[in-house]
Amino acid sequence: MSHEQAIHPAPGKKIHLADYDPNYTGDGDKDLARRQFKDNRDRMEALQNVLYAEHKHALLIVLQAMDAGGKDGTIRKVMEGINPQGVNVTSFKQPTPEELDHDFLWRIHQHAPARGMIGIFNRSHYEDVLIVRVNELVPEVVWRDRYDHINAFERLLADSGVTILKFFLHISKEEQKERFEDRLNEPDKHWKFSRGDLPVRKKWDQYMAAYEDAITNCNTDYAPWYIVPANHKWYRDLVISDIIVRTLESLHMEYPDPEPDLDKVKIPD
Ligand code: ATP
Ligand code: MG
Repeated sequence: MSHEQAIHPAPGKKIHLADYDPNYTGDGDKDLARRQFKDNRDRMEALQNVLYAEHKHALLIVLQAMDAGGKDGTIRKVMEGINPQGVNVTSFKQPTPEELDHDFLWRIHQHAPARGMIGIFNRSHYEDVLIVRVNELVPEVVWRDRYDHINAFERLLADSGVTILKFFLHISKEEQKERFEDRLNEPDKHWKFSRGDLPVRKKWDQYMAAYEDAITNCNTDYAPWYIVPANHKWYRDLVISDIIVRTLESLHMEYPDPEPDLDKVKIPD
């Protein structure tokens, strides 16, 4: 079974996260995984170059996870070596008062990647059916409709040439505890520790339920969700790089035609 088949649920299927093991590592061969990952990264570098040159498609990568789930690490590792000019990373924090005066997709849409670009969302419009739902920041009648709004929005992007990949980095509650403890114990990680993450951890089960609904309701052919086993970073990186490479390859991109008669051009002294 490919990495992709293991973690991409069929659209329409009700998701139970308990069925997905955050510790899963395929055949468990870490050395092989590292080599494959490096190979994927080289291929990504080449594919990104054609994406940029061809200027026809865009790629949007959505990353969602619980705190310490590895969103930052994924961006750092998987995008290493990619031409920074071709990538835009947007981190979505608590909305500003101005953003709250608009519909919830207003602030998102303006960061959708342009043709030729890779856009990465570190958190996304899904927060509006996750933290917003769990903390009851809007009434249920409001967030219930958002799954449809999200599907319509992603459909618009897809119809406009944006290929969308959505990754849920799936860590266990125990793994989060260890990562929080690391942040407390290692001075150069203190800055990553936030007491504010603890009340969120307390509501773990409510978040899992919200994630299950978000993934179930918004797992479409044109914007698929992948549930990535993320307790082991080396496996997480391999899985995500595999999917990105396979997706970019499936676009069959080509360099644009050169100007005619390039062989006759002489560069003047
Ligand atoms: P890190 O802690 O690794 O720097 P982070 O993504 O957790 O990254 P924070 O500034 O700690 O960044 O947290 C951002 C917070 O903003 C999260 O708690 C997230 O749930 C919240 N947030 C994002 N979008 C929304 C939204 N639409 N409504 C309410 N809260 C949101
Ligand atoms: Mg945080």
